[in-house]
Amino acid sequence: MTTAQQLSFDVQLSDAARTPAERERVLADPGFGQTFTDHMISIDYTEGRGWHDARLMPYGPLTLDPATSVFHYAQELFEGLKAYRQSSGSIVAFRPYANAARFNRSAARMAMPELPEETFVESLELLVQTDRDWVPTTEGHSLYLRPFMIATQSGLGVNYPSRTYKYMVIASPAAAYFSGGVKPVSVWLSQDYTRAAPGGTGAAKCGGNYAAAFVAQRQAVENGCDQVVWLDAAEHRYVEEMGGMNLFFVYGDRLLTPALTGTLLPGITRDSLLTLAADLGLTAEEGRLSIDEWRAGCASGELTEVFACGTAAVITPVGSVKGVEGGWTIGDGGPGKLTMRFREELMGVQYGTRPDTHNWVHKIC
Ligand SMILES: *Cc1c(COP(=O)(O)O)cnc(C)c1O
Repeated sequence: MTTAQQLSFDVQLSDAARTPAERERVLADPGFGQTFTDHMISIDYTEGRGWHDARLMPYGPLTLDPATSVFHYAQELFEGLKAYRQSSGSIVAFRPYANAARFNRSAARMAMPELPEETFVESLELLVQTDRDWVPTTEGHSLYLRPFMIATQSGLGVNYPSRTYKYMVIASPAAAYFSGGVKPVSVWLSQDYTRAAPGGTGAAKCGGNYAAAFVAQRQAVENGCDQVVWLDAAEHRYVEEMGGMNLFFVYGDRLLTPALTGTLLPGITRDSLLTLAADLGLTAEEGRLSIDEWRAGCASGELTEVFACGTAAVITPVGSVKGVEGGWTIGDGGPGKLTMRFREELMGVQYGTRPDTHNWVHKIC
């Protein structure tokens, strides 16, 4: 249910904002998701009343009743996008309306209220404008924006979804997501666990998908790999996605990415790359790839590159694969040519050094 009401934000500026020197210290080495800016957004929802009490306020802890629904039944969802400082000095977001639309698709799946897309984008603009000095100037760095929504009704009953919710946005300066720059990752094919089954929440960006994934990610690390790759729930054969990123397989000048079957997350980076591939004169298909085809393609040399894509880490090459039946290397194990080309093209649009022919860039200030 989208409420048509016009929300106006109450602005409460922090009187404990970090000094420029403190901020510069953070921005010199921001890591990922470690430090947050001076402000945050909060909007409340009450069934029958709609969205209300929209505000920008000092960043700080929440006080919630221990019986609050989100703690017990995980009715929660989130988004992730970045604000980039372009070479012109402008600060922009990349396709924020696509995040707004996905936020609402996730909300529908989680029986949570939708937020008007304009309000979603306006909330990001207000936070970024207020904390604009937190948008890094270092090349490749950005301000990561994390909108999310939680069920706030107190009580342990499970026969009805929460009647109250809180939408928030927090922001964190970000360096590269995987430390060490563009280094190929090694992936572990999870046979013991699945991320999502048909009819489940695989296409929703909800915390519960991640809660169920940590054990497999830990197994990947125990097996000497960086990331887990999920296979389909029914046969454990078809590749779905990697941790929190979508996958692309490169066969010379043809690209293949797993189709959106409902069990994987419809990435905005994935969608953008399908368009960019066409721009570059490449064929990009959505389809199905088994782990046997993956292995065979690498053995024959037909499958030349594999990369993962997502907002946080942009594009990351996959160098090697390991599963219960052994492992193999992709190409020479290093970053592929097209992988790096796509990375440059996409970051070029985001940072304003390449023309934005698809109107993906949304100017904030
Ligand atoms: C967010 C996310 C992605 C990537 O989506 P983008 O919109 O490209 O950032 C991929 N997989 C999962 C599980 C995710 O949560």
